[in-house]
Amino acid sequence: MTIKPARGIRFPVTVPVLVIGAGACGLTAALAARDAGAEVLVLERDRVPCGSTALSSGFIPAAATRFQRDKGIEDSPALLTADIMAKNKGRSSPTVTARVAERAGPTLEWLADRHGVPFEVIEGFLYPGHSVLRMHATPKRTGADLMGYLLAAAEAAGIATMTSAHVMALFADEGGRVAGIEVARPDGATEIIGCAALVLACNGYGGDPALVRRYIPEMGDALYFGHAGNQGDALRWGEALGGMGRDLSAYQGHGSVAHPHGILITWALMMEGGFQANLEGRRFSNETRGYSEQAVDVLRQPGGVVIDVFDARLHTLGLEFEDYRAAMAAGAICSADTIEALAVLFDVPSQALATTLAETRDMAIGNRIDPFGRDFSKRPPLAAPFYGIRVTGALFHTQGGLEIDTDARVLRRDGIPLPNVLAGGGASRGLSGPERDGYFSGGGLLAAVTLGRIAGETASRLRACEGIASHDFVFP
Ligand SMILES: Cc1cc2nc3c(=O)[nH]c(=O)nc-3n(C[C@H](O)[C@H](O)[C@H](O)COP(=O)(O)OP(=O)(O)OC[C@H]3O[C@@H](n4cnc5c(N)ncnc54)[C@H](O)[C@@H]3O)c2cc1C
Repeated sequence: MTIKPARGIRFPVTVPVLVIGAGACGLTAALAARDAGAEVLVLERDRVPCGSTALSSGFIPAAATRFQRDKGIEDSPALLTADIMAKNKGRSSPTVTARVAERAGPTLEWLADRHGVPFEVIEGFLYPGHSVLRMHATPKRTGADLMGYLLAAAEAAGIATMTSAHVMALFADEGGRVAGIEVARPDGATEIIGCAALVLACNGYGGDPALVRRYIPEMGDALYFGHAGNQGDALRWGEALGGMGRDLSAYQGHGSVAHPHGILITWALMMEGGFQANLEGRRFSNETRGYSEQAVDVLRQPGGVVIDVFDARLHTLGLEFEDYRAAMAAGAICSADTIEALAVLFDVPSQALATTLAETRDMAIGNRIDPFGRDFSKRPPLAAPFYGIRVTGALFHTQGGLEIDTDARVLRRDGIPLPNVLAGGGASRGLSGPERDGYFSGGGLLAAVTLGRIAGETASRLRACEGIASHDFVFP
């Protein structure tokens, strides 16, 4: 991934706004730029756009939306900002965090009303760190469903998308202005395309094991559950142009991926009363802090696997989720009439698991304090029959990235924005701060769609400054 000198390069075609990456961030940026009157070209390395977005659960937090108001839920950007900052202990950029929280609600309403992405609020349980119900999703509650709507919207808006187009290099001048890109095609041919403004929407570095080991050594050997094509290109380009990577040790993990089936198991099971026990039958953490930080705790248990333990009430809740139903079909979910029988199914010491269950019941009725700090009193104690799933911890996506301002412009080390380079989603610094426990549930897509929209709007303004009119753009 290189930067080449722009001097002397004549591009056969120059587009007003060029977007690298066709995930949630790139498609949202393209829609925003198009709405603002700019012609846009999206470049995507895969033959069929997927990204981590299509692999995700597709849940996006947003505050004060009409979807919340319809359900009588009171929320505000200030409360969303406070929740995010509480989770990351005040370590994310305060200005960018507040801007994202403020624009998230209007962005989901814009996607729904103008671009036909039908959001609804997920009810029934609160995600870790959320003060109120504010997770939004499309009806099937999957990232693939969300991607389907975004791709349909891009097509309806007449946005040009070039797939099987792996951007290999940027052409830039000494001041960090990007004049165009070089793209490799599957047959080995390369093409160059000029641009007035560039949006880096090609996510983080989860797909580059060397970068993961360098920045996040604790997850160096973990299963990477995100999109393999996200290999740190935005970070490398941005840094080479004079930008700076921030919070590179941050990430979204998950402590509940069915093993060996490789299917995400909703954390709602834990939030609503389930617990995790290791292969010795013992709990090892407060499960309700967050699914992300739980990944490392799970991986540190014997064998790097643990058992999600829950009951029929929670099984019914799980069935609302497509992933859970897939886990069911794959045979990942076992049940038994007694906790001892469940323990036998997972080769866990029966007496130890029975004792652990009894302890959680005692905590639920206030007869015992959880040494890990969890409050079990708000949910009914687990009751027979019992259910279990063997799970492991995984890396979902990296949260560090390029430092940006509130207009999604990539900042140089001296704090001045690069002339025409924007970043959002996994390509930019996330909302987690530097620590592993800073990830706010849904923070990945929140940053992808909101910063994507902001980046698209800014890119559209920049191309206007460049004097490149939409009619100059003819893409063959
Ligand atoms: C299993 C799982 C569940 C998740 N669930 C949630 C959730 O419920 N809520 C939430 O907020 N977050 C969730 N996340 C995180 C979320 O998926 C990401 O934060 C989000 O999708 C990032 O969007 P993006 O557009 O930045 O990146 P992506 O969707 O990954 O898109 C980036 C695109 O860039 C392309 N690309 C990369 N390099 C190049 C290049 N050089 N040239 C051309 N194209 C390139 C890639 O192929 C890819 O299509 C989950 C992640 C996983 C793995």
